Amino acid sequence: MRYTGAVCKLCRREQTKLLLKGDKCHVKCTLDKRPMPPGAARPQRGKPSAFAVRLREKQKLRRLVSMTEKPFKRLVEAASQSPEASGDHLLRSLELRLDNVVRRMGLATSLKQARQLVRHGHVKVGGKRVGIPSYNIQAGDTVALDQRYRENVGVKLSLETSKRLNQRPSYLEYNEGEFAAKIVRLPERAEMSFPVNEQLIIEYYSK
Ligand code: SF4
Repeated sequence: MRYTGAVCKLCRREQTKLLLKGDKCHVKCTLDKRPMPPGAARPQRGKPSAFAVRLREKQKLRRLVSMTEKPFKRLVEAASQSPEASGDHLLRSLELRLDNVVRRMGLATSLKQARQLVRHGHVKVGGKRVGIPSYNIQAGDTVALDQRYRENVGVKLSLETSKRLNQRPSYLEYNEGEFAAKIVRLPERAEMSFPVNEQLIIEYYSK
């Protein structure tokens, strides 16, 4: 079921900045003011169980990519059947989802905003409009913002933030004038935006 509560609570629960509020996260973050998990007056004492560690890691990634349990589990199962390392395959497939690529290009500061751009038909892949946020981008593809949406205030603000943070990965070549990016190669682990231990997530589902 989709979570509809306060998103900052999710960051507090995972003790990680999940950047779910876009621009606001870079200005004033709740986690800096209230670092405790929701409902906890002080940090938990004692060592968490192996199950709890794996569960938290899985939840952290699932929340980072704003996915519900069923499709996320399907993705992990598909990754487990891949001939390459399951964790690498899982993270790469999440990194190369169209909504995430739009975010990494700097056209949006949160996945939610990127997803909206895609769903509303403002994004083209190889010149064709694609309205599916989970669409899998391949090396060699070009992703571009529709010409009619380039003056949008939200997009302009996101591009300014992206420029300021300078976090655009080098697996994509961004063309400022065209509002487009070419995926020049597959991303390496260090370039992916997921601060998780992917092996623990694979282990969580392999029980
Ligand atoms: Fe998370 Fe952003 Fe809220 Fe900070 S401001 S706790 S990063 S959603």
